[in-house]
Amino acid sequence: MGRVRYGDRIRHCGREAEHVHGRDARQRLESELAVVETVRRGGCFAERRRVGDRAENLFALPCGAGLSSPTYVLMKRTHHCAQLSSSDLDATVSLIGWVDTIRDQGGIIFVDLRDRRGVTQIKLEAHDNNALAAQLKHLKPESVIGITGKVVRRPAGTENKSLPTGEIEVEAADLEIHNISDTPPFPLDDAGGDKVNEDLRLTYRYLDLRRPKMRRNLEVRHRATKAIRDYFDAQEFIEVETPALFKSTPEGAREYLVPSRIHPGQFYALSQSPQQFKQILMVAGVERYFQIARCFRDEDLRADRQMEFTQVDVEASFITREDVYRLFEGMLKKVWQEVLGVDIPTPFPRMAFVDAMNRYGVDKPDVRFAMELVDLSETFRNSAFKVFQQTVAGGGVIKAINAKGLSDITQGELKNLEDIAKSLGAKGLAFIKVEGGEWKSPIVKFFTEQEKAELTQKLNIGEGDIIFFAAAPWEKACAILGRLRLESAQLLVKRGKLTIRHDDWQFLWVIDFPLMSYDEERGGYAATHHPFTAPVPEDAALLDSNPKAVRGQHYDVVLNGMELGGGSIRIHQPALQKKVFEDVLKIPRDVVESRFGYMLKAFTYGAPPHGGIAFGLDRMVALLCGTTSIRDVIAFPKTQKGQDLMAQSPTPVTEKQLKELHIGIVQPE
Ligand code: ASP
Repeated sequence: MGRVRYGDRIRHCGREAEHVHGRDARQRLESELAVVETVRRGGCFAERRRVGDRAENLFALPCGAGLSSPTYVLMKRTHHCAQLSSSDLDATVSLIGWVDTIRDQGGIIFVDLRDRRGVTQIKLEAHDNNALAAQLKHLKPESVIGITGKVVRRPAGTENKSLPTGEIEVEAADLEIHNISDTPPFPLDDAGGDKVNEDLRLTYRYLDLRRPKMRRNLEVRHRATKAIRDYFDAQEFIEVETPALFKSTPEGAREYLVPSRIHPGQFYALSQSPQQFKQILMVAGVERYFQIARCFRDEDLRADRQMEFTQVDVEASFITREDVYRLFEGMLKKVWQEVLGVDIPTPFPRMAFVDAMNRYGVDKPDVRFAMELVDLSETFRNSAFKVFQQTVAGGGVIKAINAKGLSDITQGELKNLEDIAKSLGAKGLAFIKVEGGEWKSPIVKFFTEQEKAELTQKLNIGEGDIIFFAAAPWEKACAILGRLRLESAQLLVKRGKLTIRHDDWQFLWVIDFPLMSYDEERGGYAATHHPFTAPVPEDAALLDSNPKAVRGQHYDVVLNGMELGGGSIRIHQPALQKKVFEDVLKIPRDVVESRFGYMLKAFTYGAPPHGGIAFGLDRMVALLCGTTSIRDVIAFPKTQKGQDLMAQSPTPVTEKQLKELHIGIVQPE
């Protein structure tokens, strides 16, 4: 066979002959390619063509291989590296991938060849093919090669049961070296890579992503995203893209500003969420919208926060809270089913915000373990212990948790808990340790027998327990103990006294949030969720007289202590929206007009009742992958300091660029 031509029938690794086809293929074959030789390799016909002064290999492919034209590509595999088994014995196969490991065992060379699916062992006995052995021996791990050879059974006793391909190996007959790798700066196996400093992993992210674990994370993300798209498509939602360049709305999170070149001194802001656009889409009659949307917020970064992150953003018209619950329970059910094969029970339990705070000290309770907060305000209302008595008299509360079995807490751990409590506004950390049948605590001498009996009963106190108290205004006391509850749980987990499984999927809705919260610092009301959230209809009359008592039609989905998503039924009447802006939030009329005027105007042209929700995709995928850091499920995340260590950003820009943007730099002092 000479040069392969358009329409030729070719053989591909012994499979049925097929046609080389496609206009592009013909053009490339007949004009552009200078074929210098055609070789037969492992059952495939390969061409060598000249590109500039390099010779590159081309393999003829069956047109049914799932490729569109051009039909000709560089060396092709017949199987992936997790595919071959004893049912392929004696077949001649071609594999391509990265050298995972290479071992020379007294004249027998073993290469573990890896692609994104897995690993296959390649074997070569040096005396069978000296030239090939010489080439193989010098390969370094992470080099990219193609191998053709015969599938043989591994000698009895050398099988690797933990590998899908562990029963076989491929006897190398031909080798193609695509690229020799330098020695990677860290081991690319899961365990080795996990021990490496994250900054190094992020600097060489392309190597880090070769680790099986990271590759799996990307795949989980893909599968979750696809399940979500399929779900909403089936529910007749349409995906609509909204702009990343939006206008500044400084009342939300801190935003990224983008200077306008054409309008000197004016700025866009990167969208914090498509909230306003999705509501406008409802006015536009779209009825059912979703988007896998990139959002940007200039906030301090943490393990579960990035400056750019992805939301599954949804909005629908003519929808009630109950519809939203059903819709999203269905979405989460599908995602968990398709990604993990796990059937999560629906409907999810619902918990009022007040109950979540009272029982767990947070609005995103982790209900996988108990250690609930207990209110002791009544017990201590007339106590001789002045700190507690005065707190209650001043309108505050006394709350406590029993960290069962944690009386062996170390001084260092206790100090850490105290520091946490103080950082949340506590003056100190009162506690009782129960050891040898005795209550050890500096405060216990102030308690009456009656108070002690009530404590024992309400907190179920027993040997080996430690009780932590908070005496403060309600919200602060909840927050302090909510945090100590989580910290204590971790200490108990460390001691093997408590088990919290990451795959114990405890979903719940937190509902009945207050529409407004009073911001002491600013001395005014702020929207608990955002200013577009509608009040619960029966509370709306209280908007003027007692805004604090008004509940919002807001809901959060919580999973294992993380807020997965949140949303609300929105205000769709322009007069009510204006009232919330101006009378409740006290935003000056001209500011309302300049920021939200277009929205209020849109609402005067027939805005349907509507509502929606947004889910943090990164967080959801992190939970599905069993990792606590969203950086592990984002291909190219920023560090905690907001840097891209691989591409090296941010960077200074030139004077010329700044000038064009009408920007001057004021260096920090
Ligand atoms: N846009 C809101 C957020 O980002 C979610 C929503 O209300 O739909 O939190």
